Amino acid sequence: MIPAPLAYARPGSLDEAVGLLAEHDGDAKPLAGGQSLIPLLKLRLATPALLVDLGRLAGLAGVRDQGDHLAVGALTLHHDLAGDAVAREHAPLLAFAAAQVGDPQVRHRGTLGGSLAHADPAGDLPAVLLAYEATLVAVGPAGERAIPVTEFFTGFLECALAPDEVLREVRVPKLGPVGWSFQKFSRRAIDWATVGVAALHGPGLQRVALVSMGPTPLRARAVEERLADGATPAEAAEAAADGTEPTGDAWASAWYRRRLARVLVHRALEEAGLRRYRPRSM
Ligand code: FAD
Repeated sequence: MIPAPLAYARPGSLDEAVGLLAEHDGDAKPLAGGQSLIPLLKLRLATPALLVDLGRLAGLAGVRDQGDHLAVGALTLHHDLAGDAVAREHAPLLAFAAAQVGDPQVRHRGTLGGSLAHADPAGDLPAVLLAYEATLVAVGPAGERAIPVTEFFTGFLECALAPDEVLREVRVPKLGPVGWSFQKFSRRAIDWATVGVAALHGPGLQRVALVSMGPTPLRARAVEERLADGATPAEAAEAAADGTEPTGDAWASAWYRRRLARVLVHRALEEAGLRRYRPRSM
């Protein structure tokens, strides 16, 4: 439970942070809230030579209204995202889901960027951002690049960021008055989702994303296709586990996760459908 020896740096600018990561050529890790990284260090599942603490970088936290989208800084805490008035109005599914992450301690330390870069298929916010079809902005030695969230999650705990890139912000399109729902089933209130479902439902827009149903967060494409073809929520939800690869663990078997996905997708579609007529309600 004691990390391997490592050096620590607290850069004062994003350029300095990227420079430190580049100098260490894959042997340095950015540190945000530490909620996922510190346990990995203590278990010696991660043994970087250097931790680059992003905590003091200015301008990387908060939600800005950019007209057609929201720009959410990578260092925005789950707690702040959950309570942000702009996020609650224009991306209510994201704000609501942020309030369901872990417990108050985790939400007061954990960041949106850390949650995405950690790329845990059991994370709540990666699936929500898949449903929003968000764009992630990363900064590296060669400058800035935009990564569609559909290309971001590349494997179990793996993402498209290079070792010398820092996630700067997440762009969440404003979708207008669409219905939404976030369903999370967990054994205890503070647990990760055994299965989770993020749904957005509006005219011509049917998006469903799944938590804990494979090695990465994923879209429930079969459900979306059935809805587009005019299926009812109950009919569409029957396809919730199609194309998924859930695993069994101490919390649930793969069979149970598939069954749970069908139940939760049905609930999510029903709730999102009702909310279409009350779009601002949380
Ligand atoms: P860190 O732990 O600091 O970093 C995580 C990873 O991301 C590291 O690899 C780090 O190098 C990298 N990283 C961080 N920021 C950046 C950046 N800006 N650019 C590039 N790389 C970066 N999450 C849920 O979704 N749902 C839950 O129910 C849930 N429950 C939890 C319960 C507990 C007890 C704990 C400890 C955590 C839980 N989490 C849960 C995880 C939580 O959401 C974490 O906050 C999140 O996974 C990591 O965010 P962080 O800011 O702490 O990142």
